[in-house]
Amino acid sequence: MNVLVLNCGSSSLKFQVISVDQESIEQNNESVLAKGLIERIGSQSLLSLTAKDQKTQKSASPFRNHKEAIDFILKWLISPKAKIPKLSSLSDIDAVGHRVVHGGEKFSKSVMINERVITGIEDCIDLAPLHNPANLSGIEAISEILGAIPQAAVFDTAFHSNMPEESYLYPIPYQFYRRHKIRRYGFHGTSHRYISYRYRQLGAKEKKDTNIITLHLGNGCSACAIVGGQSIETSMGMTPLEGLAMGTRAGDIDPTIIEFLNLKEGMSYENIFSMLNKQSGLLGISGLTNDMRELIEEEEENADRRAKLAINIFCERIKKYIGAYLAISNGADAIIFSGGIGENSPYIRKKITAGLDFFGISVDDQKNQEKVRGVEGDISSANSSIKTLVIPTNEELLIARDTYRCIEGIM
Ligand code: AMP
Repeated sequence: MNVLVLNCGSSSLKFQVISVDQESIEQNNESVLAKGLIERIGSQSLLSLTAKDQKTQKSASPFRNHKEAIDFILKWLISPKAKIPKLSSLSDIDAVGHRVVHGGEKFSKSVMINERVITGIEDCIDLAPLHNPANLSGIEAISEILGAIPQAAVFDTAFHSNMPEESYLYPIPYQFYRRHKIRRYGFHGTSHRYISYRYRQLGAKEKKDTNIITLHLGNGCSACAIVGGQSIETSMGMTPLEGLAMGTRAGDIDPTIIEFLNLKEGMSYENIFSMLNKQSGLLGISGLTNDMRELIEEEEENADRRAKLAINIFCERIKKYIGAYLAISNGADAIIFSGGIGENSPYIRKKITAGLDFFGISVDDQKNQEKVRGVEGDISSANSSIKTLVIPTNEELLIARDTYRCIEGIM
């Protein structure tokens, strides 16, 4: 089955076409037929398109909305010029799997999309005002262009939906949870779930024996404590703003700062939240960039004090969460790095794990240096009792598999 995986952001769209069936799931050998990214939807959009075994093509084109961008992608996928194996007409696309950011308390697993599901996603717009409308516009565009093709929704929140009340409730008056569902939901669930699955596969472990801490460190960052294969606690909260320091998000702060800034700087709540989401984290501290690679260069080449400080705060926060998660999980078998930073920076991995030998966590320099650019595996020293691993995430693969499973009724 050829599944088009769509991840529609507020002004961007990522896609892959993945060929998946029961045999490929069992043998872990799905084939990615094509993939791409369209940025700046709404103005002069930038496209990056890659067909299997071919060079990436970059171009620019004005797309007013997601529907125009999706229409273009579908035409490209089946065009003889693109030379994509197995795709020559729209009927070669069997299903579409959508990443949907917020499933609230309504969705605890991936589902086939129907009217009821669309209403459910709409009901969660209050909780994800930027993300869910973009996801819905992708679903609507596919229905308009491809008619009755099967579509599945895979939620970022679903993997965390069985967290215990002690993890998901904020200690504020309970009535606000009852009235408005104000609680922690967690995000990056598809990534944490993939890493957990892959860890089990690499070590031939059963789900019930999967006790790990996963660190998804990209532009957005989150940690997750997984016990018995289940997420029991994660660092993002009602929205992705809570938790670790990220590329541009502040993570945990004292909420009083918001009122204080409103009084002292005359900033509106809208401006304050925009600052906390878009101008904080690595960017806010360094005053330079949200890009970890560039910060490391600034620290190394120019001894930039604030680049160094931003990196230190980033790592310190992660260390604190590792300690906390080891405490609530009564230990763990492994700490796993993933995401752009976690998969590619031996320097950051070393900095985060340094001084954790008290817990039996220790990283081998040579193994650490080798695990970059998609190389997975163990980076722990021989004497560490808690292993450290690098596992590149693959949310698209899980979305394609879930779509297949939803259609087959085995989700
Ligand atoms: P993602 O959101 O998962 O694509 O991750 C993006 C982040 O990964 C950015 O901060 C990049 O600078 C960072 N990143 C990618 N490659 C490296 C690298 N080799 N060293 C440090 N950070 C990297």
